Amino acid sequence: MPRARTPRLWLTRKYSYRVRDGYVEILGGYKLKIIGWDKRYDAYPSGDAKLILKDGKFILCISKHVPRPVKYVARGVLAIDINEKHIVFGNSHFEYRFETAVERALHYKQLAENLQKKYSLTRYNAWLRRRGVRDRIRYFHRRARNIVEDWAKKVSHKIASLAKQHLYAVAREDLTNLVDSLKKLPKEHRVSLLILSYRKLEQWIDWQCEKNGAPLIVVEPRGTSTTCPMCSSKLIENGYRRLRCLKCRFEADRDIVAVLNIERRALVQMWGALIP
Ligand SMILES: [Zn+2]
Repeated sequence: MPRARTPRLWLTRKYSYRVRDGYVEILGGYKLKIIGWDKRYDAYPSGDAKLILKDGKFILCISKHVPRPVKYVARGVLAIDINEKHIVFGNSHFEYRFETAVERALHYKQLAENLQKKYSLTRYNAWLRRRGVRDRIRYFHRRARNIVEDWAKKVSHKIASLAKQHLYAVAREDLTNLVDSLKKLPKEHRVSLLILSYRKLEQWIDWQCEKNGAPLIVVEPRGTSTTCPMCSSKLIENGYRRLRCLKCRFEADRDIVAVLNIERRALVQMWGALIP
């Protein structure tokens, strides 16, 4: 079904647009009144811009040249482990835990699917063409994506702020292989939401660390949840999501094991092999 994309216009710096006296002037003599803007970046010089028409309103997105904050010297590492249900971040001293947004987003994917199924029956084919139903389905899909994006934004903001406050570096696993293996699975909503969650989280963590001047360390993910963080032996299962080391008797939840291993690998990368 053909579908019009959001109309947009690229505007180069200096030549194609100008912001003056409460108006945006665009090449060709167009003048748009400014209703409001995000004042936080006023002090920085403007770059190229993009003009979008959305829901009957014009939005001018101006890129800003913001200098990169200097990275502070970290006195430890805050490690992040993510699974389908939880995101755990912490280190040998403390631990924070949040739910992922997968379940919440899935609810809207299911609403979209139910609607789609209902109106794809042959007797409803004429209905499917009706804009209202199509828009509703699209709205549900968009809502699901927005929930994941919002979650990734908020969680990564919390992580980076906490790291900055206590002068920790942030360590995350490289999730490329995990995302690749998820892509091979049957295309279910849950899988696609997980892929989106991992991608968005990586993207926002990296950005928030950059913005807050927090050093970021990306570690190799292999074996982070099967190796003993104390003696590097292989761990064995000991009940639901619980792991145990036969050699040194260390025992913990799978995600805590991962956090400790990520912390350790990051410390090695940051300070070399000479850690206590
Ligand atoms: Zn051990």
